[in-house]
This record gives sequence, structure tokens and C-alpha cells, in this order.
Amino acid sequence: MGKVKTRRPKAARTLRSADDLAAAGLVAATRRAELARVAARYAVAVTPDLAGLIDPADPADPIARQFLPDPRELRRAPDERDDPIGDAANSPIKGIVHRYPDRVLLTPVHVCPVYCRFCFRREKVGPGGAALTRAETASALDYIRAHTEIFEVILTGGDPLVLAPGKLGALVAALGAIPHVRAIRLHTRAPVARPGVVTPALARALRSEKAVYVVLHCNHPREVTKALAAAVLRLVKAGVPVLSQSVLLKGVNDDADTLQALFRALLAARVKPYYLHHPDLAPGTAHFRVDLAAGQALMRGLRGRLSGLAQPAYVLDVPGGHGKVPVGPVYAEAKDGAWTIEDPRGKRHRYPPERG
Ligand SMILES: *Cc1c(COP(=O)(O)O)cnc(C)c1O
Ligand code: SF4
Repeated sequence: MGKVKTRRPKAARTLRSADDLAAAGLVAATRRAELARVAARYAVAVTPDLAGLIDPADPADPIARQFLPDPRELRRAPDERDDPIGDAANSPIKGIVHRYPDRVLLTPVHVCPVYCRFCFRREKVGPGGAALTRAETASALDYIRAHTEIFEVILTGGDPLVLAPGKLGALVAALGAIPHVRAIRLHTRAPVARPGVVTPALARALRSEKAVYVVLHCNHPREVTKALAAAVLRLVKAGVPVLSQSVLLKGVNDDADTLQALFRALLAARVKPYYLHHPDLAPGTAHFRVDLAAGQALMRGLRGRLSGLAQPAYVLDVPGGHGKVPVGPVYAEAKDGAWTIEDPRGKRHRYPPERG
């Protein structure tokens, strides 16, 4: 783990087709037609930074698995749905998802620097997805202004960091000027996919009187590169705390050693692990899905061997737009008027302890 054995020259540009991937030596040329069919259905983008992390000699490479198209994506399992977390049901106006009273999602763009094969918004994101127009952005801001119960605005998408610093800065400034908006959060994969986007100008654009947080999406310890750590430091120096969200993915990070290495690497890079998401029921992603009980067992295993600061909450977005909830493991159990508490080693104790 950690080091890539093979060093190839860094690709000059983002790889966007099966032909590009074959030319870069990431997939066999004989697989081009088969993978082109997948790419026609779900957008492909692999940045030079991420392509450089892939070991093409390893058929189970955890970075390749996240970003290279796979024919299994064209198989739809019965439980899967186009809108797995019910964004549409909670969207009062274009660009806004208002599911919880006190916070909204604002989605200015539908493109990402890289396309994750397990993406929960895969039916919406892609290079064809139009950004909000100036008028639509103005209406979305009016909606937020009119709803004084909105305490926090979450910029997501797509990836808000694909916006030019000037545009992003203007959006953050407009949100910051709304008196009842006290916190602004940006959900992004860009610092992992292309750490160079976090320029000093971008970090300056995020400066605000209001609290601004960046939550980066990162799933494997190998994604925590020196370049990512440098990008995080630029944000932190601009007064922007950085947290992370990860998705629990079969064949990528569904073992205790990898998760421990991931959360430690993030913590050491000044990133506080926030959420570990149980994978959503997005179409064609069954090969990534981990059993919920296995996820709980992994989290239980981390409890005693990983700093509390490095522990994310394991959450599930209840299908249908019902919201996110922690899904365990559970350490406290009420029975016959007393509590039984499990300690980090798995030993059970009565609480409060018996007297005498
Ligand atoms: C995930 C999500 C949020 C943010 O939830 P937190 O638990 O506060 O991180 C807000 N709104 C919607 C619609 C979401 O999907
Ligand atoms: S960065 Fe996020 S929104 Fe974009 S493809 Fe990956 S999971 Fe989907």
C-alpha cells in the first residue's frame, strides 16, 4: 500500500475515452470496443494525476477500479434507481435541493474533473450537463434569501471547484452576504483529482466573513499524495478547515487495514474524516456494494485502533430522499432496565456498574 511500483510518464491531459485509456496503457487495446459502450452510457474522465496513481500491472488496482469503465456498469440490479437519494423529490427550484430545514444543496455545475464509476448522481453528472445560467443562479440565491431557516449552504454538483476562482468567489461572496447563512460548505473531488486546481487564487476566493468548509471526497490512502496535502495546506492557511467523505467500496477500501491507512493519511494531511458512506443504490454499481453488516464490523474493528479524531461516522442515505443517518455499529443496548455497553475490545459491561 502507499507506493506505486510502476512509474509511467504523466499523461498530458484528462483521458476521456476507451481509446485514450488504451493509448495511455491503462487498458488492453482489445477491450476498446467493450469499454467504449460503457463510456457511451456513463461519462469517463481520468485526470493525469489519478492516471499516474494507477498500476496497470495490477488487475485489482483500487484506483483503476474507481475510475476505469467496467462492463458490469451496464447491468442494472433490481434495487437500483436513477435518483438513489431522492434529490428530485426535494428540489423546489432548479439548482437547489432542500431536504433538511436548516441546510440546502446548491448545484452550480454538473461536471466533475473525474467520473467515479460508483457515482450516486451518475445519471445527472457528465460533460453534457449544463451549468446554472446567470438567471437560474439568481433565482437560487433568491430562494436562499427568502428562506431564513437556511443556516448552511452546501455547494456540490458536479464539482463546484471546476468553476473559475472568480466565479466561485462571487458565489461564495453572494452567499456570505445573506445574513442568515452562517456556514458555507463545498463538496469536491478536485483536490484529489487535480490538486493543482487549489491555487492561491482559489484559496483566496473562498475567504469569507462566514465559516467556509471544504469536504473532499477521498477513498484510498494512495489518493492522499504530497500534492493533495499541499493543496489542503493552502486551504487551511486561507482559514478553510478541510474534512473528508469516503465511500465504502468493495475491492477499493473494504478492509480494516486500508481504512485505517486512509483515515490516518487524511488526519496527517490536516483533514478530519467526516463521513464514511455506505454505497448508494446507483445504477450499475452492484459490484461495488458492501454488506451493511460487513461495514459495521469494519467500523467496530477501527474503534480501538484508530484515533477518535480520525474516525468518520458510518452513514447511509435512506433511499427515497429521507436523509442520512449513522448506521452503527451500536455499542449500547438497553435490556431489563439496565444498559449493556460494549468496550473497544468487544467486552460487555453493565452500566451503571453494579454496586458493591
Ligand atoms: C448530504 C446532504 C446534506 C448534508 O448532510 P449532512 O449530514 O449535514 O452532511 C444536505 N442536504 C442534502 C439534500 C444532502 O443529500
Ligand atoms: S466527484 Fe462526486 S459527483 Fe463527481 S463523479 Fe465522483 S462521486 Fe459523482
